[in-house]
Amino acid sequence: MRIEEFLIPKPGGDLKYECIGCCSSYPLDRFLYTCPQCGGLLRIEDSGFERLLEVPPEGWREIFDRRRLLRIDALKGVFLFYELILPVVPLEDVLYLGEGQTPMVRANEELSRWVGAPFQIKYDGLNPSLSFKDRGMASAVTFVNYMIKRRGVERVLGICASTGDTSAAAALYLAYLPRDRVYPVVLLPEGRVTPAQLSQPLGSGALVIEIPGVFDDCMRIVEELAANYEVCLLNSKNPLRILGQKTYAYEVAQQLGWDTSGLVVVVPIGNAGNVVAIMEGFLDLRRLRIIPELPVIIGVQSEHANPVALWHRTGTYTPVDVKPSVAQAAMIGNPVSFPKVKKLVEEHYRERFQVVEVTEDEIMEGMLVTNRHGHVVCTQGGEAVAGLRKALKEGIVDPQGKTLVVKSTAHHLKFANFQQMYFESGFPEGYRVNIREDLRNRPVKLPPSAEEIARFLGLEPRR
Ligand SMILES: *Cc1c(COP(=O)(O)O)cnc(C)c1O
Ligand SMILES: [Zn+2]
Repeated sequence: MRIEEFLIPKPGGDLKYECIGCCSSYPLDRFLYTCPQCGGLLRIEDSGFERLLEVPPEGWREIFDRRRLLRIDALKGVFLFYELILPVVPLEDVLYLGEGQTPMVRANEELSRWVGAPFQIKYDGLNPSLSFKDRGMASAVTFVNYMIKRRGVERVLGICASTGDTSAAAALYLAYLPRDRVYPVVLLPEGRVTPAQLSQPLGSGALVIEIPGVFDDCMRIVEELAANYEVCLLNSKNPLRILGQKTYAYEVAQQLGWDTSGLVVVVPIGNAGNVVAIMEGFLDLRRLRIIPELPVIIGVQSEHANPVALWHRTGTYTPVDVKPSVAQAAMIGNPVSFPKVKKLVEEHYRERFQVVEVTEDEIMEGMLVTNRHGHVVCTQGGEAVAGLRKALKEGIVDPQGKTLVVKSTAHHLKFANFQQMYFESGFPEGYRVNIREDLRNRPVKLPPSAEEIARFLGLEPRR
């Protein structure tokens, strides 16, 4: 086997939609979100996966490592892992807008001590629309592009419900395709996305529809639209989104030199597409024998939006009515991908899956303290750091011999309004955030005079 033959991948594989409920499968030649037989969730299965086992594990590691040095746009982002994403789409149809290959940054000693052990943060806020949603949008909108270019689809109305970041990513990726072929529409819960998140789809030229209610209300509407009309649903219910989001797992493994022994990955859970993709991603690598073992996955939820935490604690799943949360991107009471979480946990992860619940205070503290030590995490990243801290405190994780990786899902600036509220004591009713004076920071107003500023700072004159 010569590695060179695999460096630039050729189309292959035999991809199908497969129902996680009744196991029926359907050809991947249209947009499909639920099983026409039983209404179950769909995943994408490559029945040609066996062919990938002809390459030995060390071969795959070398292929993925050497691909990073190529100068081929299509392979620079999530499609670096082409064989594990959408190998039926030719490279010319792959969209690359700068997503993926996000850095992993080590927490300094002081922050590690505060959290309880050394850890690293993988910055998915450094994707082009500033959240990890770009990973999944790169795969889903690549498929849209492929359907338009190769499958005779004339026009696509791309639609999604969003807590803010899905709509920013969908609008961005759809804007890259010819406007006469795609029509981007996003549904947002009015007043429940941040000003930065609202400006993103508007700036990308999407039609933005605001409706009263919360995310779960928007989701119900787009689900109904997707079931009854010709639209392309771009929520993570669309299994094509999960494909790209699996690359978070591949990248963590690659950045650790493919050694996942003792790995613990901490992620916030909202609609649960993210955590499903990460669990599936590590399973792919395990199936290819590229990694020695599956990691432990720790999901984190706010006590104001905690259906998965409740299920994990009690064994019973019930949707909850959400309360206002600063981790607004995860403020979801009935996660669409929950059945996939349950199945993955029961079949593969078992005690390797844990859920930690944190308070709103702990989320804000997690974000503010982390960022005071040289990071740019969002409120959901703060939630994940707070979750790791709690997991260590409660003995859910023994740090001995472990590699701890926290996912910061978006860039801090998208959620800077929550920091602003904290610093200016302006949280609306319902959040129940108690402000700690020592974590606040405000601008100081001084006259435009070096002398006055020097006096304020107590500077010694130069001798
Ligand atoms: C979407 C999102 C989440 C939640 O991810 P799910 O896939 O919905 O569980 C968390 N943080 C941020 C910043 C997000 O945009
Ligand atoms: Zn089915």
